[in-house]
Amino acid sequence: MSYEYVKTIPSPKEIMEILPISEEIRNTKKERDQIIKKIFTNEDDRFLLIIGPCSADREDAVCDYVNRIKGIQEKVKDKIVIVPRVYTNKPRTTGEGYKGMVHQPNPSKGSNMYQGILAMRHMHIRVIRESGLTCADEMLYPENYAYLEDLLSYVAIGARSVENQQHRLTVSGIDVPAGMKNPTGGDMSIMLNAIKAAQLKHTMIYRNWEVKTSGNPLTHAIMRGSVNQYGQSIPNYHYEDIVRLMEQYGQRDLKNPTIIIDTNHSNSNKQPKQQPRIGMEVIKNRSLNSSIKRYVKGLMIESYIVEGRQEVGGGVYGKSITDACLSWEQTERMIYEMADKL
Ligand code: PEP
Ligand code: MN
Repeated sequence: MSYEYVKTIPSPKEIMEILPISEEIRNTKKERDQIIKKIFTNEDDRFLLIIGPCSADREDAVCDYVNRIKGIQEKVKDKIVIVPRVYTNKPRTTGEGYKGMVHQPNPSKGSNMYQGILAMRHMHIRVIRESGLTCADEMLYPENYAYLEDLLSYVAIGARSVENQQHRLTVSGIDVPAGMKNPTGGDMSIMLNAIKAAQLKHTMIYRNWEVKTSGNPLTHAIMRGSVNQYGQSIPNYHYEDIVRLMEQYGQRDLKNPTIIIDTNHSNSNKQPKQQPRIGMEVIKNRSLNSSIKRYVKGLMIESYIVEGRQEVGGGVYGKSITDACLSWEQTERMIYEMADKL
């Protein structure tokens, strides 16, 4: 057993010199951050949609998707704020398969981490330049967040990472909203402990530095359903699930208590076409209960251009190579229906 040391990776500062951002993009990010933060602090009561493919596997299709989303955002802007999912880091249940653009800028080829870091930064910059929308990504590898920190407006910690101390402490130094997912086993206290940890200040090691963090008061919960001991999906988006989580939230001293519902994964039992129904049910429950309305500030949805999924190398433009997604037509119809009910 050994590591083969392939090459040293440039620092975030060096990568940012290779792929810098314009003043315009810097300003866009500042403005977008303000708008999105206000949803979490109850200064803006518009509904948040974090929406896009499970994995951002190719720059052309992702930019095409986000530019279409931009068109919808304009039309629903009175009621909905959209944050595109541009996910470049993919956690894998067994460690096999496509690990995201950061590993594989070409999904059909092996890992090239240096090219991967450049490719993910290049894509995030192009998305903002073309659409004016800053995006969400999963922080799977805490040290890699530094390569994207000037670009992202939302960060998610995945179900397989949420109990990890380095993830929690790193979030405590991030100044955009960060969603902690419930773990795959469904234990809500693990997620709430993660929120607590990230809202506190810490001293920690980050990229060879001793750093002090400020605490992130915008850290919140994402409900993604769970899997029981028989491998069956147990959803947690229903009225009673939300009420229980609000009660648990209420027993703790947490800032900006917020719930985002992930409509895919174990909530849809990986049936992406259920997402519009699940999302509409959540919106209905908000209208029935003012506490739910206050807590549940948005949805996370998996959607791309072509419905479903394909294997890596399948070659269909705009079709997911990880979790199955809604098609563009289904997405468009769903967002307008949601705007209508909000
Ligand atoms: C995802 O959002 O695509 C994802 C991997 O989610 P989770 O961590 O909930 O499985
Ligand atoms: Mn997914």
